[in-house]
Amino acid sequence: MTGSGKEKYMADKQGTLIVISGFSGAGKGTVVKKLIEQYDNYALSVSMTTRAPRPGEVDGVAYHFSTDEEFEKIIAEGGMIEYAGYCGHYYGTPRAFVEEKLAEGKDVILEIEIQGAQKVRRQFPNAVLLFVTAPSAAVLHQRLTGRGTETEDVIRKRMWRAVDESEGIDSYDYIVINDDLEECVKLVHGIVTVSHARPSQNQEFIKTIRQELKDILKGEEQ
Ligand code: 5GP
Repeated sequence: MTGSGKEKYMADKQGTLIVISGFSGAGKGTVVKKLIEQYDNYALSVSMTTRAPRPGEVDGVAYHFSTDEEFEKIIAEGGMIEYAGYCGHYYGTPRAFVEEKLAEGKDVILEIEIQGAQKVRRQFPNAVLLFVTAPSAAVLHQRLTGRGTETEDVIRKRMWRAVDESEGIDSYDYIVINDDLEECVKLVHGIVTVSHARPSQNQEFIKTIRQELKDILKGEEQ
């Protein structure tokens, strides 16, 4: 690769939009946290929600907490990439941060549920969709019970929701089985690294090398 070609390739490189969904209790939050700690190419999108903050959740870190009116105004202005209703509240992905970071070449992570994931796919056909799961239903159940923070009723609701979500796994690009956390983080990072080699993310490089090939032949003809 010539110097000029390589520089152009780097300058125009867009990041990958990564959508991470998964069963409650699959450990997707921990996987995302580790990815961000271990590598510097990621930016995590902070969603907006109308649900109340849980103890310890900081505004602007866990979520941007908002009222229904504020949320609806942003929808009307086209400021959300996607949004969904979940348990009586809005959840949505603010557009500006995602587009800015992708343009800077960052790999942007959205940790969202399945309906939102499908909406992102329609708008960003090159997004990479990952579904994170525990290695078995028994392990998932054990993890939910082991937290000790949920009632039996809530655990059953989450297990029923997992039944529904399991029907949608085929619409994802990759399934990531979170058995060993470190292995799981490595796998996700590997998938993202490979995604950078797709022609769709190297359009400027392709244009440059096409031109360079023609230029060399033209030079020889003279
Ligand atoms: P929680 O209230 O437990 O924080 O989140 C509930 C669900 O909403 C989770 O499945 C989470 O992935 C999803 N979620 C969080 N942010 C967004 C978002 O911006 N858009 C969509 N569609 N789902 C989201």
